[in-house]
Amino acid sequence: MVKQLPCVPMGCSACCRETTMPLTISEAKRLSRRTGMAVETFTWEHNGVLTLLNDETTRACVFLLTTSSETSAEGICSVYEVRPEGCRKYPIVLNPKDEAILDDGCPHRSQFPQPTEDDAIALLNLEERLMRK
Ligand code: SF4
Ligand code: SF4
Repeated sequence: MVKQLPCVPMGCSACCRETTMPLTISEAKRLSRRTGMAVETFTWEHNGVLTLLNDETTRACVFLLTTSSETSAEGICSVYEVRPEGCRKYPIVLNPKDEAILDDGCPHRSQFPQPTEDDAIALLNLEERLMRK
C-alpha cells in the first residue's frame, strides 16, 4: 500500500513559500499555456536558471493560493497538475555528493519514504535540463 504523504493532511505549504524552485523552459511554457500568464510574470532568472517568482505580499510562489505570509499557513497549489518536476520531487533533493536526500527544509520529512537511486538519477537529469538554454 502506498503511504499517504503528509502535505495535505498536515495542511502544509512550507516549500511553496519564499521558493527558489527552478523550472525548465518547457515547464514554464506549459504553465504559461495553462494559466494564460506571460512567463516573465511568474519567473525570474537566477544564475542563468529560470526560477519561480514569489508574490510580494504573501512571499509565497505566485501560484500558491493563500492569503497569509506565515510559513506555517495553509495554501493550495493552483497549478498542481502542471507543477514543475522540482515541486513534484520535493522534499527529495540532491546533496553535494549528488545523492538523493530528504531536505531539512521540509518540516514533515520523516513521514516521507527514503529516496532511492532512481530519485537521484531523475534529479540529475532535471539539473541537466535546467541548465540547457
Ligand atoms: S513537501 Fe514538505 S514542506 Fe512541502 S508541503 Fe509537503 S510536507 Fe510541507
Ligand atoms: S508551483 Fe505549486 S507546488 Fe510549486 S512552488 Fe508553486 S505553489 Fe508550490
